[in-house]
Amino acid sequence: MSDRIVIAGAGLAGALLATLLARRGLRVEVFERRPDPRVAGHEGGRSINLALAERGMNALRVAGLERAVLAQAVMMRGRMVHDLDGATHLLRYGRDDGEVIWSVHRGRLNATLLDAAQAAGARFHFDQRLVGADFEAGLARLQCGRTGDACVVEAPVLVGADGAGSALRAAMAAVRPLGERFEPLGHGYKELEIPPAADGRFRIEPHALHIWPRGGYMCIALPNAERSFTVTLFLPNDGAPPCFAALRGPDDVAALFGRDFPDLLPHLPDLQADFAAHPVGSLGTLRLDTWHLDGAALLLGDAAHAIVPFHGQGMNCAFEDCVALDALLGDSRDYRAAFAEFERRRKPDADAIADMALENYIEMRDLVDDAPFLLRKQVERALADRHPGVFVPRYSMVTFRRTPYAVAKVRGAVQWDIVDTIARGCSRIEDVDLAFGDALVRERLPPLAD
Ligand code: FAD
Repeated sequence: MSDRIVIAGAGLAGALLATLLARRGLRVEVFERRPDPRVAGHEGGRSINLALAERGMNALRVAGLERAVLAQAVMMRGRMVHDLDGATHLLRYGRDDGEVIWSVHRGRLNATLLDAAQAAGARFHFDQRLVGADFEAGLARLQCGRTGDACVVEAPVLVGADGAGSALRAAMAAVRPLGERFEPLGHGYKELEIPPAADGRFRIEPHALHIWPRGGYMCIALPNAERSFTVTLFLPNDGAPPCFAALRGPDDVAALFGRDFPDLLPHLPDLQADFAAHPVGSLGTLRLDTWHLDGAALLLGDAAHAIVPFHGQGMNCAFEDCVALDALLGDSRDYRAAFAEFERRRKPDADAIADMALENYIEMRDLVDDAPFLLRKQVERALADRHPGVFVPRYSMVTFRRTPYAVAKVRGAVQWDIVDTIARGCSRIEDVDLAFGDALVRERLPPLAD
């Protein structure tokens, strides 16, 4: 079996996978369509910063990079909800600062991963776009972004870490149907910036993920180490205003922010310029029935399962993929068996986080300021305190533990049903029959083993 692996894409998953596999002694060649971001600078167009949680952190730990990445990250303790009247309240993610998430800069993280992969012996070829493959002959076809020159390289084993628009996926689908479905969300996003204050400090609380929930739409803001925030406006693409199609000029933008985000507006001095310059990003969920072509090719990360960003798990899940594949290839170089097993283990989890990410959009934009929902969150916390290791909130299973996503989804549904059963008709936590909740937990939830 070949020890040469060709990876398409040197983004987050491609660079991490290259590190792990090169350390196993495999000959790893990575082809990336963009120039080297460490030389050319990080290209915009995708989210500037990302929330890193336990699954991603664990992958970085396995790669020996946890400390390097944490040194560039900003801790976020919870959601800081901004009401329309300017009132704010922090909804903690976990019990204490042991249960937090981290805001990391995509470009810097990518550079750290590229350095690590090169140090481990992986070879990178930038400005080289994968345009096709001959799986039987074990060849990949590439095109140089600068010169347009085409070339063919030996690729007995190809891994597609080339993102949601994967060229490898298209090449595989030309050989065998992959059962591909793309479900557009119908909402897009636009990135804006809160710069540091005049005295160089953060303008708003740094250790939180800020949310301005407004029903069918919202803004969020994640802190950057430079003391700025990246703000993301999520809106329907079209239909009844507000939607991106209805924002035709600076006056419409100013009116939207003045009406719906009045406490955010003063912190956005470049709102009009950012709005005009930044594209509207599209969002959706990609599902496939098949992720591999025998032992010749495999897709992972967004190339296999792009999801909407509302659980902050796309990268975390992609990193978990890398660790899982690395472990399988450590046991054997039987790529056919390893790829089939990878798909068998990871697909149910990818499907589950795709669903949970969609559900979280509703929670973030609609429910975080809804009284019955907040009471249920209080009840959930109370039951979690009364049943440690048994009743673990779904958000915690997804974010602070590595409970398989599919397990988190199923247990989460049982738990929410228990919460809803005992909270129904109550408006204060004191009125909720927690003892009945205890009985339901004992009856319906075995201890969580992970
Ligand atoms: P990508 O990061 O897309 O990397 C793919 C790479 O392949 C790129 O470098 C690309 O240039 C290259 N490439 C593409 N085509 C070719 C080709 N033909 N040949 C060679 N190279 C090619 N996830 C989180 O965990 N937390 C978050 O907070 C979070 N926030 C997000 C916010 C937004 C607005 C969005 C859109 C996504 C967010 N995500 C988040 C998801 C996360 O960005 C993705 O899941 C993650 O980037 C997937 O990594 P990847 O390496 O699979 O793909």
